[in-house]
Amino acid sequence: MTPLGDILSRQIARTGPMTLADYMSACLLHPDHGYYATRDPLGVAGDFTTAPEISQMFGEMVGLALAQSWMDQGQPTGVLVELGPGRGTLMADILRATKAVPGFHAALDVYLVEASPALRTLQAKAVPQAHHVRSLDEVPEAPLFLIANEFFDALPIRQFIRSGDGWSERVVGLTDGHLSFGLTAPTRLNMLEHRWKTTAEGEMIEHCPALPGLAEEIGRRIADKGGAALVIDYGHWNATGDTFQAVQRHSRADPLAAPGEADLTAHVDFAAIAAAVPCGATAMTAQGVFLERLGITQRAQALADSLQGDALAAHVAAHRRLVHPDEMGGLFQVIGLYPAAGPVPPGLDL
Ligand code: SAH
Repeated sequence: MTPLGDILSRQIARTGPMTLADYMSACLLHPDHGYYATRDPLGVAGDFTTAPEISQMFGEMVGLALAQSWMDQGQPTGVLVELGPGRGTLMADILRATKAVPGFHAALDVYLVEASPALRTLQAKAVPQAHHVRSLDEVPEAPLFLIANEFFDALPIRQFIRSGDGWSERVVGLTDGHLSFGLTAPTRLNMLEHRWKTTAEGEMIEHCPALPGLAEEIGRRIADKGGAALVIDYGHWNATGDTFQAVQRHSRADPLAAPGEADLTAHVDFAAIAAAVPCGATAMTAQGVFLERLGITQRAQALADSLQGDALAAHVAAHRRLVHPDEMGGLFQVIGLYPAAGPVPPGLDL
């Protein structure tokens, strides 16, 4: 058992089983033992990799999409924000790709929203001009151009199984001194009322308590002041089923086995984002389709011209990984948020 596992076991022994959200929150962000709080999971010897770490082309396309939205809205003075910037690679690529867009850098102050002190240090090196904050509330009210890649999947979720005329919650308890999953007795829950029509007896749904408030706040700022947001993640639209997973050293792991030492995620319900925002929301679009529409293949060809041998092979493989429907291109989805009267962010469908 890990040090955090001992802490959580003692807590459960004292106060009873905990929700998956409380477990996930402790595992990811506990100040002394949390997974993100203590390490760089994206490093060379890390546990997982993300699109911006695979190729600079990802950040270039995202940067050009945000710059297009900014130009379409009359080049307002505002803020460029990233939620959960990891190593800062994505924002660094966005800024490099938009250097040539006249006025873009001068008009937008850069804010990085990050909970992990370890990652904040890395981000400050990659993007020295950025302001660091812990939550979106600390970002000034202004036209908002926002990117969140693999951020919403790190927000803690609760899981519920439909049972009779209510829901049983899946919780983390103790069996013979070891962490184990359990189920509460079913109860009626108002907050899940909207899922009643789309589920059947015995089916599991996931609810992310922080998502509606955060999406609402992003959408309110865009509705009030203008701007655009791109949310990119593993996800679905109102689906059912268990997507809670642990990843350690690039492999699936048991989420209860090593608290604080594995990355824990759940797929993002894009329908919940669309339902929470008081601004426009596009349909959910596959990452590969989005990147192709933004011109990633032309960019890949231009970059390929100066590469040979292993570097060329790695570049071709990275492009394929980002766009192919059987790889991240199909696994990851994108939703765009925009002022209700438009314009719609480029590369996305209504
Ligand atoms: N966007 C980056 C990194 C994704 S990893 C990339 O694409 O490479 C998830 C990031 O979100 C990490 O930086 C992590 O520390 C941060 N994070 C997770 N939960 C958070 C929270 N509740 N508040 C702020 N940042 C959080």
